[in-house]
Amino acid sequence: MKRSLFTSAVLFATLCLLFACTPASGASDDMKVSPTHVIILGFDGWGSSSFENAEMPFLKKMAAKSAWTLKKRSILPSSSACNWATMFKGAGPEAHGYIDWDSRKPAFNITFSDEKGLFPSFFSIYREAFPDHEMGYLYQWEGMKYLFDLTDFNYTQKFEISAAGSADMTDAAVSYIQEKKPAIAAFFWDYPDKTGHSIGWYTNDYMTELTYLDTIIESIVDACDKAGIIDDTLFIITSDHGGHNKTHGLAVISDLETPFFMFGRGVKPGDITGPLMQYDVAAILADYFHLGHPKGWRGSSPEGIFE
Ligand SMILES: [Zn+2]
Repeated sequence: MKRSLFTSAVLFATLCLLFACTPASGASDDMKVSPTHVIILGFDGWGSSSFENAEMPFLKKMAAKSAWTLKKRSILPSSSACNWATMFKGAGPEAHGYIDWDSRKPAFNITFSDEKGLFPSFFSIYREAFPDHEMGYLYQWEGMKYLFDLTDFNYTQKFEISAAGSADMTDAAVSYIQEKKPAIAAFFWDYPDKTGHSIGWYTNDYMTELTYLDTIIESIVDACDKAGIIDDTLFIITSDHGGHNKTHGLAVISDLETPFFMFGRGVKPGDITGPLMQYDVAAILADYFHLGHPKGWRGSSPEGIFE
């Protein structure tokens, strides 16, 4: 998004007036405080087939306050890198070039590029619109590092793929929220995918993992409450793909359907009844901030999800 010269001039004049009666030393810190916050919790390999039998009391309680669906549709192949990329790049693999489970760069010329020569993501367009806002990106799986331009974020950190790593990442996310009150924070756990591959999708161990992930969701929401930002925060909780047996990636519904929950500031609760595609998530986020969509995007927001 570009500001016109006139808008920039008005903004500059307004800022001059504002800071004329504000100590200059506090100016840059103040600008980092965003009036709104978006917290994205991504759980790799969390298929919708698990939801009915899952013991996830916190999330199930929050469903009443959510715009939600169990029918968010992954792109093919129903694998990680291509789906996480699609979710925030607002278009399919044919456009952004992340075509496989471990894509680390586009496989071919992208259909549209921003000034950096990259396919725009929600994160990049938000950063362009709000250069001073605090943004964070925490993850366990190495592959998450290559999907977006991580220089757009003030804070990025990788954690071990282990139970201890999951707990460490949750602690770091909680501290980050309380200390920085980020405008945008995206936290990607590599579970329950890890359990799915080692023990099996929708097994007892997988379901036990989901109950643990539910406590993570509660910890993060609680951190926003303690940070005093809960009323100004939008939460999105979702996944890249599901699975079956000890694998995924196929064109079967158990791999393709993932939960999508959105609750908090501005959300109109209710079932999302229309189709929701992976690339629509970027559109929902951009529309929430009235950012407009880059030309290469194809996603759109379902109607009636915001107040
Ligand atoms: Zn996997």
